[in-house]
Amino acid sequence: MAVDLHTHSTASDGTDSPAEVAAAAADLGLTAVALTDHDTLGGIDEARRAAEVAAIELVPGVELSVDTGGVKLHLLVYFLEPGPGPLQDRLAALRHGREERNRRILGRLADLGYAVMMDEVLTHARGESVGRPHIADALVARGWFPDRTAVFAELLRDGGPAYEERLRLDAAEAIRLARAANAVPVVAHPYTTGLESAELVSLLGRLADVGLGGIEAYHPEHPPVLRQALARLAHGLGLAATGGSDHHGLGKPGVRIGIGKGDLVVPDEALAELLAQRERPSSAAR
Ligand code: AMP
Ligand code: FE
Ligand code: FE
Ligand code: ZN
Repeated sequence: MAVDLHTHSTASDGTDSPAEVAAAAADLGLTAVALTDHDTLGGIDEARRAAEVAAIELVPGVELSVDTGGVKLHLLVYFLEPGPGPLQDRLAALRHGREERNRRILGRLADLGYAVMMDEVLTHARGESVGRPHIADALVARGWFPDRTAVFAELLRDGGPAYEERLRLDAAEAIRLARAANAVPVVAHPYTTGLESAELVSLLGRLADVGLGGIEAYHPEHPPVLRQALARLAHGLGLAATGGSDHHGLGKPGVRIGIGKGDLVVPDEALAELLAQRERPSSAAR
């Protein structure tokens, strides 16, 4: 039996509604699915209602972009409930940081000859977390590019001509806030840090010391050997080895719920290990 602990919906930059994500996961026969939209819990209630109908377990979550000593990484935070709370209260500021950054990106695009209005961008966003994918959609709608990927390759990629930084939490602060909210923080797709193996191991060890609960080992962009190596590393550090498809619907063609690019299997144990992390008293953060 399998789960998918990393998915995006229209609440952020996916193209399936939260209910569609839950229903698709149930159709595949998964036992649980986590909705992990960027910087928002806005899709959780809808996903949970659909999950109840489809008899699949819904794990509430969010994906944050954080920084640690100049290294950028994504943090998945599980069991974070909508409503007020130590980390929840910071999400609005992060989304505000997105809005401010989106304006700077539109300024850069105008300078580069690709002027679009914020209103055009917002027609492509159905939730409260708006970002580069929706800006890309606006440029595609103008007929300037064939798809999101082409816009990222030419303009919006990290460090690209129209790229702008945005407000990020410090990794240790985000981990502390997640634990204070009785949630479990997990480093997402560690390959994106670009670190070589020894540096990555040392970084993950340091984050484990401040309360990290898991490492996303099973991800479509991880070759099978890396999935196994990261799972061993997680277990060696006493952490959960988790995984998911990082499904974005049509926003990431070729990646599907549950199976990623076709070869992904996230075992049920991943969720069991996450739950065990939640039971771990915060004083156990070494
Ligand atoms: P943002 O959250 O505004 O920084 O935008 C980052 C999002 O853009 C990621 O979560 C992906 O969903 C999407 N993305 C990143 N790189 C690419 C790419 N090369 N092609 C299409 N979408 C991408
Ligand atoms: Fe995304
Ligand atoms: Fe991510
Ligand atoms: Zn993601």
